[in-house]
Formats: sequence, C-alpha cells, structure tokens
Amino acid sequence: MSAKLFFYPEKMGRIILLGMEEIMGLNGMNAVLRLGNLGKLIQDHPSARADRTFPFETVSAIMQALELTYGARGGRGVALRVGRATFKNGLKEYGSMLGLTEMAFRLLPLSTKLHTGANAFAELFNKHTDQKVRLEEHDNKIFWHIERCPLCWKRKADEVVCHLAVGLLQESLYWVSGGKAFNVEETACIAHGDAACTMVIDQVPL
Ligand SMILES: [Zn+2]
Repeated sequence: MSAKLFFYPEKMGRIILLGMEEIMGLNGMNAVLRLGNLGKLIQDHPSARADRTFPFETVSAIMQALELTYGARGGRGVALRVGRATFKNGLKEYGSMLGLTEMAFRLLPLSTKLHTGANAFAELFNKHTDQKVRLEEHDNKIFWHIERCPLCWKRKADEVVCHLAVGLLQESLYWVSGGKAFNVEETACIAHGDAACTMVIDQVPL
C-alpha cells in the first residue's frame, strides 16, 4: 500500500532554495544539495509555477542536509536564517494574497495585526499547499500548530528540528508589526513523536 504524497507548490520550493542561496552562496547551497543526494535540484531548478509538485520528502531532505553539513547546532542557525530569507522572498510572491499590505491594516492595534496576520498566513498554507496549520491563542501567546509538516516529514529526531519555520515566523512577525522582534520557540515536533510541530509565539515584543 503506498502512502499519499504531499507537496508544496513548486514556487515555494524555489523560494526556499533562493533563501539558501542568499545565506550560503550558490556553491554552498550546491554542496548542501549534493550531500543530501538532491543534486537533481541543481540541474533541474524548481520553476515559479504554482502547481503542487515539490514533495514534502524533498523539503525534509533539504533540512536534514543542512544538519549534515553544519552539524545540529550550526544547521539550526543556518535554517533560522534561511527561514527569514524565505519569508522576504515569499512576500514578493504571496504578499498581495495575504492582504496585509493595505494602509487600513497598518493602522490596526498590534494585537489585532498579529491575530489577523497569523490567520492570513495559516490560511495561505492551508489553501495553497498540503501543509496543515491550526492556530490557537491564549495567555498572550499564539500557538502555530503544524499538523502536517514538510520540514520534518518522515523524520525521527531527539530534539525539535523545524527551525526554518521559526525563522519564517520571526521574520513575518517583524514585518507584520512594522519592525518589532518577538520570541518564537518550537516546543513540540512530529519528528520527536509529538502530534504536531508547535511554534509558540510571544505576543509581547522583546
Ligand atoms: Zn515539523
């Protein structure tokens, strides 16, 4: 029996690779991809199409290759930075879809912006990718539960490993709040045996 396959849009794969190239340079990125047996992505660079053709297996393999290349600790730092770069590049592609660029949005109070922004961002993943995100809000925190997660797809790990999502959320919060920094922490991870990969966002800026 074969399991159902899940995908990101091809352009999301492209945006992640762009982020990697920005952080580690073309040669560095290619070295990581080769180490992860992903050399096909070097020859066959993902295009900017919206079709869901970029497999979760590939996303997860890229994250694993970062750890192989830089070690668990170093890989975490690189994945955080790639996540931040990924948000910036993704914004060019998906920004208008998020509907957060209007002046009316800019004028909302911070807590409303965070609530609205998180919901719009979660909806983007839920509607346009096979990633599933569920939001929860209490105690001045937003809980970003990734219930089907490409970053750690089919992995087993002793610790949480979805660092790219942390970087991505940090940068999105910085952008939504107009330049404030927030604490974001992954507190649970499917690779670690948890039901979801949970990112806890502190709604009070640092
Ligand atoms: Zn995960």
